[in-house]
Amino acid sequence: MDDKLSRAIEKRRDDLIALTRDLIRFPTINPPGEAYTPCAEFLAKRLQSIGFETQLIRGEGAPGDTDRYPRTNVVGRFDGRTHGEVVHFNSHIDVVETGEGWTVDPFEGIVKDGKVYGRGACDMKGGLAASIIAAEAFIDVYPDFAGAIEISGTVDEESGGFGGVAYLASKGFFSKPRVDHVIIPEPLNKDRICLGHRGVWWAEIETKGEIAHGSMPFLGDCAVRHMGAVLEAFENELFPVLDSKQTSMPVVPDGARRSTMNLNSIHGGQTDDYSGLPSPNVPDSCRLTIDRRFLLEEDISEVKREVVSILDRLQWERPKFQYSIRDIMEVQPLMTERDTPVVIAVAEGIRSVFGREPQYVISPGTYDQKHIARIGLLHDCIAYGPGILDLAHRPDEYVGIEDMIESAKVMALGLKVLLSGSV
Ligand SMILES: [Zn+2]
Repeated sequence: MDDKLSRAIEKRRDDLIALTRDLIRFPTINPPGEAYTPCAEFLAKRLQSIGFETQLIRGEGAPGDTDRYPRTNVVGRFDGRTHGEVVHFNSHIDVVETGEGWTVDPFEGIVKDGKVYGRGACDMKGGLAASIIAAEAFIDVYPDFAGAIEISGTVDEESGGFGGVAYLASKGFFSKPRVDHVIIPEPLNKDRICLGHRGVWWAEIETKGEIAHGSMPFLGDCAVRHMGAVLEAFENELFPVLDSKQTSMPVVPDGARRSTMNLNSIHGGQTDDYSGLPSPNVPDSCRLTIDRRFLLEEDISEVKREVVSILDRLQWERPKFQYSIRDIMEVQPLMTERDTPVVIAVAEGIRSVFGREPQYVISPGTYDQKHIARIGLLHDCIAYGPGILDLAHRPDEYVGIEDMIESAKVMALGLKVLLSGSV
């Protein structure tokens, strides 16, 4: 380990804790997108105080963007003495709702037993704070470095990232020559490098029926019964097939190392504003949302065909069976190669701080890397940050202070490797 860098980070321990707490105190809940602007402004000021030039960029027109809830992002940049590579740390500032079961105030930033508690502590304000401290320490120790460091705080990751990274990527913020390497400090555990994620296909299936009086269902056609047949076919035919599809991608946890499909929601009959009274009708529509996660080894057209072929067959088998299917979202699976510079640099940091090889993993769910690859066409990108993945979105979420310190060291060492031009 580089002693000077290590000391520069240790020296900032209190700053790191204070910064994490300050960030947690902005209740940036998404949806709807609370407190984005004050949080982004706070970050801009903090980055300016260490010499970054900053811009606030609103994801104008993105889903959810209104004057009441502007999608405010911040991008900061620190140019080194001379021209060189550019390393970008991207963190999302939004958090999910708190939910039930907290024993501490989720927006106080309570410090207890070496941990900082709060909604977003681990996902991912702790990672954001660690990246700022890492950059600060690096600039302090190596003021003459070549290249540039960028740090962004972006919105809406939890709801797809459209007003955040996707918007910035469409404006060129995540493409060469502006940026060469991206590290996303998501909570993937301090000694793991996350290379990417499985693919996603979200779709809505609707079965159709015919409305009639509930007392004479034989006069109509029940869309919910048709959907029941769909579910039965999924249960008997599709789920066993998905279970058997293993991947060579190192997805964590183990259970996600195969194809999966969640049935996100199902709704038939009476509309969503159901007031408590039962519907008197035979339902003429039933809608099911599916969330299919697929593998590098699978092709999206094949993934869709598996579902559609079941629906088509039911059309032959069941009298009056009618359906429609609508795509909601598609994301290709991603896996950054292990010999890309950012992977090599962060792996070197992990070896040096922990004295062991990093674990290379793939996230079960997607995150903003998808936009950087798809829109920014930048593939030198990983997720690396402190915090335990399993704590994300849970009550009493926390981030370990020592974990933040150690991963800040890894990030600072990563900067050193990337900006010294040795990879
Ligand atoms: Zn996150």
